[in-house]
Amino acid sequence: MSSTTVITNIATLVTNDPSLGDGSPLGLVRDAAVVVDGDRVVWTGGSSKAPATDNRFDAGGRAVLPGFVDSHSHLLFAGDRTAEFNARMSGRPYSAGGIRTTVAATRAASDAELEANLTRYLAEALRQGTTTFETKSGYGLTVEDEARALRIAAAHTDEVTYLGAHVVAPELADDPAAYVDLVTGEMLDACAPHARWIDVFCEKGAFDGDQARAVLTAGRARGLTPRVHANQLSFGPGVRLAVELDAASADHCTHLTDADVDALAQGNTVATLLPGAEFSTRAAWPDARRLLDAGATVALSTDCNPGSSFTSSVPFCVALAVRDMGMTPDEAVWSATAGGAAALRRTDVGRIAPGARADLVLLDAPSHVHLAYRPGVPLVEAVWRAGVRVV
Ligand SMILES: [Zn+2]
Repeated sequence: MSSTTVITNIATLVTNDPSLGDGSPLGLVRDAAVVVDGDRVVWTGGSSKAPATDNRFDAGGRAVLPGFVDSHSHLLFAGDRTAEFNARMSGRPYSAGGIRTTVAATRAASDAELEANLTRYLAEALRQGTTTFETKSGYGLTVEDEARALRIAAAHTDEVTYLGAHVVAPELADDPAAYVDLVTGEMLDACAPHARWIDVFCEKGAFDGDQARAVLTAGRARGLTPRVHANQLSFGPGVRLAVELDAASADHCTHLTDADVDALAQGNTVATLLPGAEFSTRAAWPDARRLLDAGATVALSTDCNPGSSFTSSVPFCVALAVRDMGMTPDEAVWSATAGGAAALRRTDVGRIAPGARADLVLLDAPSHVHLAYRPGVPLVEAVWRAGVRVV
């Protein structure tokens, strides 16, 4: 028999269920309590009305929100790109191979090294409140190296993405068509059993619209659902392709035409914004306000990877989105929780409502607004995942 616990004396509870709270998208409840039974939330409401339970936890007048849902990361890698970052931030040219540097290090690493690196960053993310995460392959670029990355990832999350189409493998740099054949053929056969999603970097210098379409449709035929690295560095066909193929998410969305914004507003594809990438490359920010005003669903995620966004901190991304992308604190918190869940087509996470998985974050602050108001401060005081206190 599972035991029940009430978390009570919550100054501000973010439920992400408008019917439970003040009617806003965050469904805020003041002076609230949450009851957890085993791994599930079974009750939310005012502190004074909470039912009797086996155990009691006093939140001490602080805020509780759903665990963050980080729907975009690249954690199967080895090596380090400090020199590249340092050169870029020092205004010096840097000619080393970018993603290919990481590919070489990843291929050379043992399974145990890759898994140790993955679990290190997962623990780091968990301490900052991330209770659900997606992660991708894409630094192996051979049949064996992509498949082993996904096999290792699948031991740690259900949200595994096959990204053989990250860049063309260096061996086939002169024959990208042959690489697309590999990604949609033998590599897909080896990878599909370990993955839920298929992704492609649709960008100049990576894969064009026709190649991206070939990759995504081949993955879909094998039961994988598309998501797309779209419109990060330049305008292009990625976002409209994502919406046309009913991808769960179009990620980055930094360079959008009005037609792209309209497509996102009208389709089922979530626009996932990754401000860590713009921060770490000193690039122009994506315009979250424009997407929200058009009616698109927006998620916020870290894009944690060793090259262009080496942060595992969702709170940092929330602060950037509020400061520089036109989001209100409420919108940014929603996008980092319920928005991430939508980008993974999940309804059991990203909200605190009866039936949801008991993934909760206690902040050392009276409200969720402090995530943006106090940037860089480690406010996460406690984390529960599936009802178990893990931080
Ligand atoms: Zn990415």
